[in-house]
Amino acid sequence: MTRAIPFLLIAAIFLSIALPTSAQERMRPEETEEWEPVPPVIDPGPFAGSLAPPSDAIILFDGSNLDEWASTRTRGDAGWRVHDGVMSVVQDAGSIHTHRTFRDYQLHLEWRVPQGVMGSGQARGNSGLFMAYDLSRGQGYEIQILDSYENSTYVNGMAGATYKQSIPLVNPMRPPGEWQTYDIIWRAPRFSEGGEFMEPARVTAFFNGVLVQDNVEMEGETYYIGEPEYHPYESAPIYLQAHGDPGPTLSFRNIWIRPIE
Ligand code: MG
Repeated sequence: MTRAIPFLLIAAIFLSIALPTSAQERMRPEETEEWEPVPPVIDPGPFAGSLAPPSDAIILFDGSNLDEWASTRTRGDAGWRVHDGVMSVVQDAGSIHTHRTFRDYQLHLEWRVPQGVMGSGQARGNSGLFMAYDLSRGQGYEIQILDSYENSTYVNGMAGATYKQSIPLVNPMRPPGEWQTYDIIWRAPRFSEGGEFMEPARVTAFFNGVLVQDNVEMEGETYYIGEPEYHPYESAPIYLQAHGDPGPTLSFRNIWIRPIE
């Protein structure tokens, strides 16, 4: 008995340190922010017109309806506003995801921070393109969408960053009110049949036609708090974030995807 108690005590302390979940919970959000190097600001040139979907693309949004999308909260209708050939975030409706699931792909998406956007830092035009989203766990792999035009924040959380992981190579953001484009090549992480981690996800991203992520290895899912981790999946929906910032909301248009078999 006298010998068992110290052993149990040591085991309890060891377990409390070793469990990743409790370690994550003890971290503060600031611990995974990086504030430098600040990517150079470049002018991508004027928006030169929508990139038309090639004939083998799956159209996720053509300006007419949200048939390909569902509300992540209710799993019912997406609930965002379709108008003038675009969809605009409705904060109360929450985030949305595709009915379809994907593995490796090329994706094109156009997004616009509204003129008159309010707030600063992360609370200014925040959304996010989750390149794969685990609906059951509510986590995924985010490339940040944010107003990064003369808006300072941690650089691994600016537009074009894989959230709290990889800083964009440059900052080619256009001002609010203008259209921005993302062209993404996503290679999903690989897991064994038993769910063991085999290979990291990789992402290449063009922001307004400019390379910002060059075949970058992901460290795992992207978290607000804590270090990235991998969780097995086979294929997953694409997800667009409603961040809940006040004021006029972001819009999206011309979203298409080409799965890579
Ligand atoms: Mg975001």
